[in-house]
Amino acid sequence: MSNNKFKILIIEDEANIRSFVETLLATNGYQVLTARTCAMGNALFLSHNPDLVILDLGLPDRDGLEFIRTVRKRFAAPIIVLSARTTEQDKVAALDLGANDYISKPFGTAELIARVRAALRTSRHAASAGALPGGRFTAGGLSIDYDRRQVFINGQEVKLTQTEYNIVALLSEHSGRVMTYAAIVRAIWGETDCGSTKKLQVNMANIRKKFGSRPGDNPYILNELGVGYRMVDEDAEKEP
Ligand code: CA
Repeated sequence: MSNNKFKILIIEDEANIRSFVETLLATNGYQVLTARTCAMGNALFLSHNPDLVILDLGLPDRDGLEFIRTVRKRFAAPIIVLSARTTEQDKVAALDLGANDYISKPFGTAELIARVRAALRTSRHAASAGALPGGRFTAGGLSIDYDRRQVFINGQEVKLTQTEYNIVALLSEHSGRVMTYAAIVRAIWGETDCGSTKKLQVNMANIRKKFGSRPGDNPYILNELGVGYRMVDEDAEKEP
């Protein structure tokens, strides 16, 4: 049992947060490594090859963004930023450097565990991409048939345009994680210009209407203002 546990590295200088997260993850069946500084984190990362990293940005020796920059050059392990910095620019900077998600302090235990599961699941999906035929995504009343490019809400088909479908499918492949506006635009239209974010917002408004949701109340796609969009997590029972 202990041999196939996911290994998670926590890089956090505040002792109480570090031990809280360590206990929480260990209780949920993960193997945990901890570091107090960016340098220690780098050393443990290289020697232990963890499956996921939880990273504080305000570290005593270096900025956590430096860690993301260094690791991302060579490694794909998901990185979740755990930070008291709450400005949109800081979140976008971390995500654009290659962090997979962020959690703002203070955070809830259920939220942290959900984000860890989502990040590990997405990286498993990526590792097996191409090996699995199309398949299906379900989250509450939302379901997507990737083979037939069809979307259903509570069993009723929702007629989407090609672009709207591509956006919904993209977000579902990253469910549970926030995707920045720029990352979505790049994936859908290939390049960014000053009108693309507006184009994305127009498409999202149409998707929301077709999903039958009221303004500001899409239960399937959450708008993280100033940062990006997050599709709700895939139903847990779909996990292998
Ligand atoms: Ca700190």
